[in-house]
Amino acid sequence: MTDVYQKYDLKKVINASGKMTILGVSQLAQPVIDAQKFGDEHFFEMSELINKTGHHLAKLLGAEDAIVVNSASSGIAESVAGLIGRGSMYHVYHPYDSRFENREIILPKGQNIDYGTPEEVMINVGGGKVVEAGYANMCRPEHIEMMITDKTVAVMYVKSHHAVQKSMLTVQDALEVAHKYDLPLILDAAAEEDMQKYIRMGVDIIIFSGAKALAGPSSGLVFGKRQYIDWVRLQSLGLGRAMKIGKENIMGLTKAIEEYLQNGPENGESMKQRLVPFLAGLNEVPYVEAKQIQDGAGRDIYRASVVIKPESPKNAKVVTAELKSGNPAIYTREYRSNEGIIEFDIRAVDTNEMQAIVERLHEILDE
Ligand SMILES: *Cc1c(COP(=O)(O)O)cnc(C)c1O
Repeated sequence: MTDVYQKYDLKKVINASGKMTILGVSQLAQPVIDAQKFGDEHFFEMSELINKTGHHLAKLLGAEDAIVVNSASSGIAESVAGLIGRGSMYHVYHPYDSRFENREIILPKGQNIDYGTPEEVMINVGGGKVVEAGYANMCRPEHIEMMITDKTVAVMYVKSHHAVQKSMLTVQDALEVAHKYDLPLILDAAAEEDMQKYIRMGVDIIIFSGAKALAGPSSGLVFGKRQYIDWVRLQSLGLGRAMKIGKENIMGLTKAIEEYLQNGPENGESMKQRLVPFLAGLNEVPYVEAKQIQDGAGRDIYRASVVIKPESPKNAKVVTAELKSGNPAIYTREYRSNEGIIEFDIRAVDTNEMQAIVERLHEILDE
């Protein structure tokens, strides 16, 4: 397979930066690849495949229903369209028709983020009109409440490290306001880890990305209350057609979620063990002082933190630039490089790659 890199003149990549869309997000586990291959090699009655994998996943998650879609982004657009059309076939064929006047989606201002595209764009694709609640630095339940009109179709909440966290109402708060007015809550939880928490909370529509924490193929999952999932499903005959997911990815995501619910993500203990030989190797490189650190947000993630000593002829910024410009290109967490610190996230890095990183650092820093 190495020749694919050669054939198209692409660089190999070692991803020590974490889950990054610009690097292709995730590597798939073998059972997921096998499930995808099975999908590639067989025919299915596609509507059955969509419905039954959805029911299966819903049962595993404890949700009323679920549907595999092609991305969290399409999950947002199709959920919004579903709530505007409420099962109308006329709407499916005329999703932007003025006959449908109720299109307002209330979103805390600090959550109208750009995760690669703005939330607002996907809401617009679904025919929704964003009504921002609160201010750049805060949103309380009453800010949502005061924006509700007879044109409101849903409240939306984006649970993400990209969003403003300070003085922000909780998911539970948003759910309570929405339900007080008989409105559904759409939750964009694209990169979250706990798939069942929000079901237990009673959130109406929950959207996950397949390729982030779940380590699945490029895909998404929409799950929650049956009526809403039915309306989302209907979009495949309308605007959802441009967001179609292939059978191989339906099979792949289904398997990835099964695996994820069974094994979870790699735990901190395992990361700590894998870090031991890596840290020892790093500490042999001149001007390098390496130690284990825990994730800044307190998650069960452990990384190698490398200080490039002040007397080094090359500072941390130069080192990260040289790491990236080699082949393989080595991507690190470099947001503290101006303080002389480089972090290595090893969740997607194996033993051979750790070895390659240490060797490359010797090339860069040995005299
Ligand atoms: C990544 C992300 C998305 C988009 O997920 P895709 O599956 O790539 O479409 C949406 N919302 C948030 C908060 C994200 O982090």
